[in-house]
Order: sequence, then structure tokens, then C-alpha cells
Amino acid sequence: MIVRTPKQRDTLIEAGRRLGVVLDELARAAVPGCSTEALDDLAEQLIRAEGDEPSFLGYTPEGSARPYPATVCVSINDAVVHGIPNESPRLLTEGDLVSLDLGLTHDGIIVDSAITVPVGKTDKTGYALMSATAAALEAAMAVAQPGARVGDISYATEKAFERTGFSVVKMLGGHGVGAHVHEEPFIANAGKPGTGEILVPGMVLALEPIANEGKATVVIANDGYTFRTKDGKRSAHFEHTILVETGGPLVVTRRPSEK
Ligand code: MG
Ligand code: MG
Repeated sequence: MIVRTPKQRDTLIEAGRRLGVVLDELARAAVPGCSTEALDDLAEQLIRAEGDEPSFLGYTPEGSARPYPATVCVSINDAVVHGIPNESPRLLTEGDLVSLDLGLTHDGIIVDSAITVPVGKTDKTGYALMSATAAALEAAMAVAQPGARVGDISYATEKAFERTGFSVVKMLGGHGVGAHVHEEPFIANAGKPGTGEILVPGMVLALEPIANEGKATVVIANDGYTFRTKDGKRSAHFEHTILVETGGPLVVTRRPSEK
């Protein structure tokens, strides 16, 4: 969406604030022995308690055969994105890397954000993968200035993983958001600078670097949603919804724990 009024801007900011609070709560709940289904129930409960709606529940992405059945995507270790928490629920185990990806609709405006957290403590490579992916998100957001192009964001994302030893998943990426869960433009996690749509003030974008510990190749599971790494190694994913503004991007989904 393009934000055109102060009221829309305020609603977007409030939506993002609420989503950040819920994601922090989910991250705190992701402890050894917690089930993925319990995380999903908690997410739905926290969102509805504030009078908002889960944006992913019942949403059918383009090319999918059925609606997404849950509130939050929970993708553990070799699951890259779109893991379903409530169909074959599993218990979190010490050392797991868990991506929590959540969409919330507040007053008609949709925001989208994801974090990857360790369950208990993980190993050095796991921490490095998470911090490289979080750093790539910051690098991507920094170039989302009016006048820049979508390809500039893609290029900044790809470049952030150089010399990290990790593989960016180029076929997945960010998107416009706000009025719908997925809007144009698609923002690939790799690309050429100076190409693609020009960013204008008021654009609402979800940027989401995804990177693998091993090879970049991902495969989709039989459930039609879960992407997994082909080599079985782990993956990390971070996402924020931003508002493109003249003074620089406003990150609307910053979590209280990040501030
Ligand atoms: Mg998301
Ligand atoms: Mg997204």
C-alpha cells in the first residue's frame, strides 16, 4: 500500500507496535518442551485480545492449493519459511533455531515481521547465522530511501552475506504489504542495483532476508507450504515492515526488545 494520510500512517505504526509486542512474547515462550501448536495458540490469543486479526490464518497465497491453516509460521532448523505449527506439532528442543513469522491486521492495515531465535542455547554457527541474517535486514532497510530502486534493496541483501560463509536464498524475498498480505513489488533477496521499481514516500514494504548455513537450494514439503533446505542444514529469517519516508525508512515493527 501507499500511505497517503496521517491517519493511515498512525494506524500502520500502531499495527507494527502491536506486532512487535506479540513477537517478543512468542520469542520468550519458545523454550525447550514448548510445542509449536502452543506457540500458534498463544499468537492467536495475543492478537485477538487486542481486537486485531491474524493476517495469515485462512490466507491463500498465489499458487497455493489451500488456505494457510495457522496464525504464525514456525520454521525449525532446516525448515526455511512457512512451517505449519498446528498440523504435525512438535516440541522445541534445546539448541533449535526457530523462525517465527507473523502477520497482524489492525484497523484494516496488515503488517508482517519475523525473527529467528535459539531455543535455550545454540552453537556458534547458529548464532553467526542468525546475526548475519539480522545484519542483512538492517543493510536492506538502510537503502530503502525514496528514489532508490527495488534492485538496490535486493543487491544490499545479497551483498550483506558475502564472506559470511552463508547462502542467501535468492528465490524468496520481501514484498509490498499493508492492504494485502502480499503486494507488488516482489523484492528478491539478490539482484542488480539500479533496476526495478523506484521507491516513493508512503510505500509500505516487508523486507525479509533468508539465509542457509549450507547450500542455498530449498525444496517445498508435501504440506504445500514448508520450505526446507535441500541439504538438511539450518536456515534463518528476519523480517520487518517499513514505511518509505523522505527522512529515511521508518521501521514500524521494531520489537520492544530491539529498542
Ligand atoms: Mg512474514
Ligand atoms: Mg513477508
